[in-house]
Amino acid sequence: MLMNKNKNLIKDLQTSLTTSNVLTTLEERYAYAQDASNIKKINNLPDAVVFVENKEQVQRVVKIASKYKVPIICRGAGTNVVGACTVEHGGIILNFSKMNKILELNRENMTTRVQPGVIVGKLQKKVEEIGLFYPPDPSNLAVSTIGGSIAQSSGGAKTFKYGSTKDYIIDLEIITAKGEILRTGSNTIKNATGYNLSNLFVGSEGTLGIVTEATLKLIPKPESRMVLMCYFEKIENSISAVNKIIEANIYPATLDFMDNNAIRTVEKFYPAGLLCDKEAALVIEIDGFKNTMEQQKETIISILKKCSASEIQYSKNEEEYNRIWTARRSSMGACAKLKPNVTTDDVIVPRQNLALLVKGIRKICDKYKLTVCMVGHVGDGSIHPQIPIDYKNENEYKRFKLAKSEIYDLTAKLDGIISGEHGIGSLKREYIHKVINNTAIEYMRTIKKIFDPENILNPYKIF
Ligand SMILES: Cc1cc2nc3c(=O)[nH]c(=O)nc-3n(C[C@H](O)[C@H](O)[C@H](O)COP(=O)(O)OP(=O)(O)OC[C@H]3O[C@@H](n4cnc5c(N)ncnc54)[C@H](O)[C@@H]3O)c2cc1C
Repeated sequence: MLMNKNKNLIKDLQTSLTTSNVLTTLEERYAYAQDASNIKKINNLPDAVVFVENKEQVQRVVKIASKYKVPIICRGAGTNVVGACTVEHGGIILNFSKMNKILELNRENMTTRVQPGVIVGKLQKKVEEIGLFYPPDPSNLAVSTIGGSIAQSSGGAKTFKYGSTKDYIIDLEIITAKGEILRTGSNTIKNATGYNLSNLFVGSEGTLGIVTEATLKLIPKPESRMVLMCYFEKIENSISAVNKIIEANIYPATLDFMDNNAIRTVEKFYPAGLLCDKEAALVIEIDGFKNTMEQQKETIISILKKCSASEIQYSKNEEEYNRIWTARRSSMGACAKLKPNVTTDDVIVPRQNLALLVKGIRKICDKYKLTVCMVGHVGDGSIHPQIPIDYKNENEYKRFKLAKSEIYDLTAKLDGIISGEHGIGSLKREYIHKVINNTAIEYMRTIKKIFDPENILNPYKIF
């Protein structure tokens, strides 16, 4: 009976789309059963992987999934790190890599209309060609997609000054679980006309609806930019420098952090001239009109010196700028070289509690004898503890799970939240109750039921 259901499902998909856009071999299904979250074990495979090329095809797939009551798991580049694309009970992986067109770039309105499979980095380059700027920049922007960034509420290094993905969405086209077309906003910069439905879909991880188009706000591209790399002998001094810079009303584009383990690991992987004997580094980007750069730089340097920075470097050209950023963005890849597996996390606290969070994470990882490389967008209060481990070592895995839970307890105690930008997916759902109260979770469940009464849209995620 089950075999027949599966056969009929595949047949319906192949008839509704081109056969070459429906992958069904064991190898193909296996390749799409996980994402960058590096799950311990693949227990379930999708029934099929489907490449869609337009919204009508998405509508058809939704109708088929509804007919057979099977899950639809949308997939951009599969780079989320929380198991948001993992397969819990079979179903259809809906792959958006062929819906990757920039449909409109409107200089006058300063907006762009894109399909969900557009790569974030490519969109950035395209809008910069006409002097505009799309700031959200998850560290893996060279591969991650707009659809995935919307669904995960992605941030990145520039969130401190410019905000995250959610701040740039003015309208979404959504295919609902019933196959209807829903528009969440308008082609205007402001909208006070009813509920803000766009925000409901941001961070919903493909559980409420399927994004088939997004209209995004753009801003003018800053005329000039420069990145400062500054080192400290003590972590406390680096965090204090972050606060002092902000208190001085300077607004850098980024205030990012690397601890000594991260500095050493990255330098081994991507030799960029980082100073491996330093306890901490800050990566500070400043931008704006050319004639303000020198003043911004000098003010920041004088604050850094007062906070005992032991070495301060800054980029003098694009090549040096790119070298520093490539080093910072390589941290997860570099950590992956230390052990067979690597995990990353995403905890965030009010900035006043940041030093306690950083020290606490180090203490917890020491207690459980785990290596941790810490990087983070510290201007936002955000830390990514990256822990290389060997999943085959059961004892180490057990210690890792205990450490993870304690890191979340500490985050909650420091008035924080367990994801600022990566999302919850399947990997963090068992912990969401630590930071979200039951009433809020019940309302989230109710919202899910309204949008997806048959529970076919990426079920078993978030809560
Ligand atoms: C090395 C590395 C560095 C990273 N750095 C950052 C960082 O600095 N900041 C940050 O915020 N994140 C970061 N991330 C996480 C990751 O980049 C984001 O989660 C990313 O934006 C996801 O995009 P994606 O295209 O890979 O989405 P996927 O992983 O394919 O999907 C993510 C979620 O979106 C859903 N989805 C995809 N397309 C659609 C659609 N069309 N409609 C509805 N739902 C959809 C999926 O079902 C899933 O729930 C990093 C990840 C890696 C591996």
